[in-house]
Amino acid sequence: PKTLRLILGDQLNYQHSWFEEKDASVTYLMLELRQETDYVPHHIQKVVAFFLSMRNFAEHLKTQGHKVNYVQLDQEGNSQDLEKMIKSFVKKGSFDQFEYQLPDEYRLDKQLKLISKNLSIPCRSVDSEHFLTEREFVEDFFKGKKTFLMESFYRQMRKDFNVLMDGKEPLQGKWNFDHSNRSALKDKRLLRKPKLHPKKVADILKMLEKAKVKTIGQLDEESFTWPCSREESLEVLSHFCKHLLVHFGDYQDALTTWDPFLFHSRLSFALNTKMLSPLEVVQEVETYWKGHQDEIHISQVEGFIRQILGWREYMRGIYWAKMPDFANMNFFDNQRKLPEWFWTGETKMKCLSHSIGQSLELAYAHHIQRLMVIGNFALLAGIHPDEVDQWYLGVYIDAIEWVEITNTRGMSQFADGGIVGTKPYVSTANYIHKMGNYCTHCAYSHTKKVGEGACPFNSLYWHFYERNREKLENNPRIGMAYRTLDKLKNKEELLKQAEEYLKSLDAL
Ligand code: FAD
Repeated sequence: PKTLRLILGDQLNYQHSWFEEKDASVTYLMLELRQETDYVPHHIQKVVAFFLSMRNFAEHLKTQGHKVNYVQLDQEGNSQDLEKMIKSFVKKGSFDQFEYQLPDEYRLDKQLKLISKNLSIPCRSVDSEHFLTEREFVEDFFKGKKTFLMESFYRQMRKDFNVLMDGKEPLQGKWNFDHSNRSALKDKRLLRKPKLHPKKVADILKMLEKAKVKTIGQLDEESFTWPCSREESLEVLSHFCKHLLVHFGDYQDALTTWDPFLFHSRLSFALNTKMLSPLEVVQEVETYWKGHQDEIHISQVEGFIRQILGWREYMRGIYWAKMPDFANMNFFDNQRKLPEWFWTGETKMKCLSHSIGQSLELAYAHHIQRLMVIGNFALLAGIHPDEVDQWYLGVYIDAIEWVEITNTRGMSQFADGGIVGTKPYVSTANYIHKMGNYCTHCAYSHTKKVGEGACPFNSLYWHFYERNREKLENNPRIGMAYRTLDKLKNKEELLKQAEEYLKSLDAL
């Protein structure tokens, strides 16, 4: 039968079984659509990275001899509507059958199911052949449990995929080296250059400008450096193994103004668009380490593998277990709006101006910037999770709802009331100061709790606990914070200071 196969922008799986054989009766359809550029204002680099990677993928398929119909955003006949486009292709090409890969977003899953129902030909969905687990695996694994403990899932994955294992036991006798993953970076000379792929993207930029696509963040001609093909992605992976893995675990949580990427891999976009598979990344890293055990400690490797084999896969499972309800959760009933400076980076708090500034400039921040600087502040300030989600979903190169919302609303904002995390990730300035140099030369003092120049994190932290007492005090992992709070001599002063800051978040 004549078959039309849809490929979405995050389904650039070069190794999908669809492409094993050339088949003249199959046409692949790829679409640049306004529904994708507009469901949230995205970072300009994110839109460019998606379109460029899609175009490269389409070219690759064509050179492999596949029939591809690629529709650019500004192409004549692009109605910008997924259903209309599919229907018109089916009709024009007299297709007998429509196939698509299971999408990772709830929104598209719903839309494609509906489209399939409305089409007059047989429709079929197939696996995207990317993840290590099925959509339902995590839900089944934790059946009947309130909290879904990542660590137990992760250990199962290590066993199931025989990663860092010595028979039935973890290699070197330990499942988790998280405790050695917590150093601040003291020596600049350890830093390595990232593997960048600078390229000219004037054509796409012009097209987006002409179409008046609303974007955020920056991109000047020379600064676009993300890997946008499988080949480039493999180079980033190989660079990571050779130059960054050696310190990955140690400085995973480090915060510094010296470098935006530190020892992080910059692989999230390549992974989330499926140009790389999680299993190949994990196996490549394990194999590299096995050949370099005298130089690289297992803690560096385990720390990295846990992120992909554990967290990434787990978050996807949480998403399918808890959507669509997850998107409306607001455990603390937070209602405030994001301060204006989230869109400019112009705040006197250096940790935030640096982390937000970097995000707007590069469409990238590493995990601890996202969690313990930006997310920490948003939670302490009581920002509505919808606002926080929108920001994260727009700003990062790797932000796709399944992995953005579980991290933001779940892990970072605790809006799920403790499905993903066992307690909220909040801290005073003490933690931020300990992990790096953000507090040096800041307009606020990290040691000061009240009065002129007191770091807002210090009073907002206790205000957060006080105002959420009813919801948190009985949590055994948190009770301690309340005992400390109630013993504080300047408690009233602290709470008043926080009230002042909350009244004028824009001015911080
Ligand atoms: P590395 O530090 O090199 O880690 C390697 C890989 O592990 C990443 O590429 C990623 O695929 C995976 N990984 C690491 N942590 C996580 C995690 N918590 N959940 C899922 N995968 C993980 N990641 C996204 O891919 N998209 C998002 O939209 C996203 N939003 C986030 C929002 C918040 C509030 C937080 C705290 C984290 C978010 N993360 C998100 C997770 C993580 O911060 C990024 O994956 C990571 O910073 C990407 O940079 P990297 O590739 O250099 O990562």
